[in-house]
Amino acid sequence: MNNFEFSRASDVADAVRQIAEEPGATFVAGGTNLIDLIKEGVTKPSRLIDITRLELNRIEQTSDGALRIGALVANSDLAYHPEIEARFPLLAGAILAGASPQLRNMATTGGNLLQRTRCFYFYDTTTACNKRDPGSGCSAIDGLNRMHAILGTSKHCIATHPSDMCVALAALDARVLATGRNGERRIAFGEFHRLPGDTPHIDTNLNTDEIITAIELPPSRFAKNYSYLKIRDRLSYAFALLSVAAALEIESGVIKEARIALGGVAHKPWRDRGAEEELSGAAATRDAFARAADMILSDARGSGQNDFKIELARRGIVRALTQAANGTPQSQSDKRIR
Ligand code: SF4
Repeated sequence: MNNFEFSRASDVADAVRQIAEEPGATFVAGGTNLIDLIKEGVTKPSRLIDITRLELNRIEQTSDGALRIGALVANSDLAYHPEIEARFPLLAGAILAGASPQLRNMATTGGNLLQRTRCFYFYDTTTACNKRDPGSGCSAIDGLNRMHAILGTSKHCIATHPSDMCVALAALDARVLATGRNGERRIAFGEFHRLPGDTPHIDTNLNTDEIITAIELPPSRFAKNYSYLKIRDRLSYAFALLSVAAALEIESGVIKEARIALGGVAHKPWRDRGAEEELSGAAATRDAFARAADMILSDARGSGQNDFKIELARRGIVRALTQAANGTPQSQSDKRIR
């Protein structure tokens, strides 16, 4: 393991000052992914800046009706918060579909956004990986790619983003609050994570001197008709082969607004606004859901072992939208897909 310095940030301004002064430094909070990456030699920070004592662990109502979630709120505290359970059950369901209770107790809201792909080759430092070692190649394209992306890939990387929480945040049009040397800014959730393109080593559009301070959830009309469907190799503690966050606003059987975000299929939570608009004004029927699925997957491409994901995604989208329309969301305690 590499030697590294360790320091503590006393407040957000101090955290920004420290990270700006040392480009090789990184923030640590829950550490549920970062410590693994350091132990495996995948990442070698020159300094860990402990941010756990910053006052970023509150969930507050804002004056415009949004909910502001501090970046250090633990995933479990977020999932079981009464406001989240009542107003944003899609988010609660997505969080509880991820990881294990112990990990959810440690992992933070901000850290969840910054976790790295679980591509096997990224963690195996004996193999070529453009994300870990830019320009070295991608071992997954002709290798073990069963877990990999089918949308938005590039010839340099076909990795997926591993988060469940982020899929729901994408569907709910969340905003990321970040502070850097130039002050605070809001980043639309869809603009936060990047596709791999020819820079797969850069996961997000967060600047190197910025710290995530909070997530904002705008008022939601999706507390009744929603579902977070996650399909994985075992019923718990496994990353998604596919996940679907589906949310509908329905009046007299007609869809007023639809939100669909996919996980496990791309380098970022995947949304297709065209397909959502197509559903707007349509009757909430299986045929309409199937048409939306076909639109979302029209450019999907497999890499061999993951070809099955295209049909899996088609069926998963229809299933999740049907569950949402019926008001029978996928249970996260009884995870069997019925
Ligand atoms: Fe690396 Fe991406 Fe290829 Fe995986 S898919 S080996 S993360 S470049």
